[in-house]
Amino acid sequence: MVNPLNGLIRCGECGRTMTSMRGSNRVLRLRCAHFKYGCNNRSSLLHQLEKMLLKERRKKEEEKEQVEHTLIPEIENVLDLYHATTSVDKKMSY
Ligand SMILES: [Zn+2]
Repeated sequence: MVNPLNGLIRCGECGRTMTSMRGSNRVLRLRCAHFKYGCNNRSSLLHQLEKMLLKERRKKEEEKEQVEHTLIPEIENVLDLYHATTSVDKKMSY
């Protein structure tokens, strides 16, 4: 499966792109591309996405008519996908 997340989410600490990886408990996590070189930013994908969604929504509210491009539909798609993949995983593990 092509990962739609790669390149979409940036590290809050160093600004590099985050890549997703599957952790030991099948949970998708995000890891900073600079992780090996000192950046310690690693977080749960869902948490990160929800944070982004909130931020984009707030931005949209503040700017109202000025917002031409927004990440909201993109993030919502990815969240749907995330929920779809995790539920498939749960089914498969039974
Ligand atoms: Zn980083």
